[in-house]
Amino acid sequence: MSALNAKIFASCHSPSAPPLPALLSQLLENQQRVWPLAAEGYAALQYAQVREVQCRTFAVSLQFNPKRMMSTGAKVDAGSIRGRRCFLCVENLPPEQQGVLYAQTFLVLCNPMPIFPAHFTIAHIQHQPQILAAHLAALLQLARDLSPAFTVFYNGAQCGASAPDHFHFQAAPAGKIPIEHEAIKNSRRERVQEIDGVMIILLKELGRAVLVLEGTNAEKLIRVLQQLLVKMQTILQISDEPKINLLCQCQASQWRIILFPRRKHRPDVFFKAGEAKVLISPASVDMGGLIVTPVEKDFRTVDAKLLEAIYREVSWGETTVRKFWL
Ligand SMILES: [Zn+2]
Repeated sequence: MSALNAKIFASCHSPSAPPLPALLSQLLENQQRVWPLAAEGYAALQYAQVREVQCRTFAVSLQFNPKRMMSTGAKVDAGSIRGRRCFLCVENLPPEQQGVLYAQTFLVLCNPMPIFPAHFTIAHIQHQPQILAAHLAALLQLARDLSPAFTVFYNGAQCGASAPDHFHFQAAPAGKIPIEHEAIKNSRRERVQEIDGVMIILLKELGRAVLVLEGTNAEKLIRVLQQLLVKMQTILQISDEPKINLLCQCQASQWRIILFPRRKHRPDVFFKAGEAKVLISPASVDMGGLIVTPVEKDFRTVDAKLLEAIYREVSWGETTVRKFWL
């Protein structure tokens, strides 16, 4: 417990504590002051270039962010994970890094290599695998306690989590991921089902499969999400957690979960050699329409055709998604 105590910048659920978003602002300010790596990461982000690519029926933003090389290119195979010290375990955190203890369960940490001007990693205080099922209530609670300032997101162990062995969420300022805006456009939304007051919506013509769940009752929403995950396992005939990325936000007492069912983690171009290699490794943010490219050549040359092909390759197809309702 003492290793954890040394890492607590503030606790969220102490009676006199300010709300979580206010504590996170203080944490971000502190970490940029005392931790040179974080200061450098957030300073560099101010100059990150962004380029919009117009695909046939949707747009994608590219962010040139060399600091994300480690995360985008991370070796996440079982052997590599076993051979390294877990960077989310409290005893391995850099000396300057501290976090906000949330619900006695999670330590909210500043991501020192951010994609967003406020980017947090919400790490479980115990080393345990990245499996969402046991943490759905925590996901909704976090989204509510961080609302309306932040959106919480989750990368499955097999599609984007760079620590698949240590359970964690992330948080980004609300509205920074393009899909958040697409999800509320009537022209995109196809209502497919309502279960127990939970609305299930399919987003159309985004070049990848996107499901939206909306509801005001946490228990019912959790139950429907669990059912969807089990249905995915049945369709895929697997027992592990299906490959997913997920965003969760809470607005005016309503939760919205945006779910990306994935076919594979990395596209084939990721594994090519030399000039043909494109270092794009899609996770929640990328599936959400903000694609991070740590290599300048990729940032300059990636075009609509390649982006459409990458989404198609890593996402479920429409036919598979429709099996949810067969
Ligand atoms: Zn760990």
